Amino acid sequence: MKIGCHVSIAGGIENAPQRAADLGCEIFQIFSRSPRGGPAPAISADSARAFKDGMKKHNQENCYIHTPYYINFASSNLGIRRAAAKICREELERGSLIGAKYIMTHLGSAKDMERAEAVGLVAKGVAEVLKGYKGTTEFLLEISAGTGNIMGDTFDELGYVLDEVDGIGICVDTCHMFATGYDIKSKEGFKDVMKKIKKFVGKDAIKLIHANDSKMELGARRDRHEHIGDGKIGKEGFINMMKEFSNIDFVLETEHDKVEKDIAVLKKIRDNI
Ligand SMILES: [Zn+2]
Ligand SMILES: [Zn+2]
Repeated sequence: MKIGCHVSIAGGIENAPQRAADLGCEIFQIFSRSPRGGPAPAISADSARAFKDGMKKHNQENCYIHTPYYINFASSNLGIRRAAAKICREELERGSLIGAKYIMTHLGSAKDMERAEAVGLVAKGVAEVLKGYKGTTEFLLEISAGTGNIMGDTFDELGYVLDEVDGIGICVDTCHMFATGYDIKSKEGFKDVMKKIKKFVGKDAIKLIHANDSKMELGARRDRHEHIGDGKIGKEGFINMMKEFSNIDFVLETEHDKVEKDIAVLKKIRDNI
C-alpha cells in the first residue's frame, strides 16, 4: 500500500512527480487536461520521457489519472455520450504514454430516464471506450456520492457494468461511499459493507482508494471532502479501510492546505496496522 494525493500539472506534466514527492507522496494522481473542458494538450515524447524519469528520480511508484468532471455516459444526448467515450479513451492512451497504472472516471447523471435504461447506456459507453484498446493503462469506474441522478453510487449498479464489460475495475472513494450510505466507520457497518462488496463486485475488483474524510453525515448523498480524522468518517473508518485493502494504493483528494498532514496521518495508520 502506497500513499499519495492529487497534484497539479501546472507548468507541464513532467513537473508532477517532483511536486508529489515534495508533499510526501509515494504515488500520486493528476488531471492530464483541464477537468472542466477544452482539448487535451499533446504529450510530447520528450515530456513523457521527462515524466518517467521524474517518477524514478522522486521515488514515485505509480501515477493515476482522473478523467474530466463533465464525462456523462448516461446522457440522453448521443453526442455527449460519444464525447464521454472518446475522452476516456484519450485519457487511457495518454496514460499509456506516461506509464500511468489506472485512469478513473465518474459515470455521469441520468435525467428524464429510467435508471435501468441509464445503467444500460453506461455499460455500452464503457465498452465503447475499450473497443480495440491496446494500451497498458487500465480503466476504473469511480463510485459516486449518489447526489441527485448521478450514476454509480451503489456496488449493485457498478457490479452490473462490471458484469457487462471485461477488463475494468473500481475506484472507491471513502467520502462518496459514506455519502451514499455505506457505513465504513463502525465495525459492524464495515462488515456489512464488505459483504455487499463481495456480493456485487468482488473484493478484487477494487483497485484503488480515494481517501477523503466527509464533512457530511452518513447517507447525506453530498460530496464534501474533509481532512482525515476531521470529518464524520474519522480515523476509525480509515483504519478499517487500510486493514482491509492493505495491498492497494490510497490517494488523497483533500485541500492542499493540510494535505501533507493527511499524508502523514495515513502513513501513521498504515505503520500501526
Ligand atoms: Zn472522482
Ligand atoms: Zn468527491
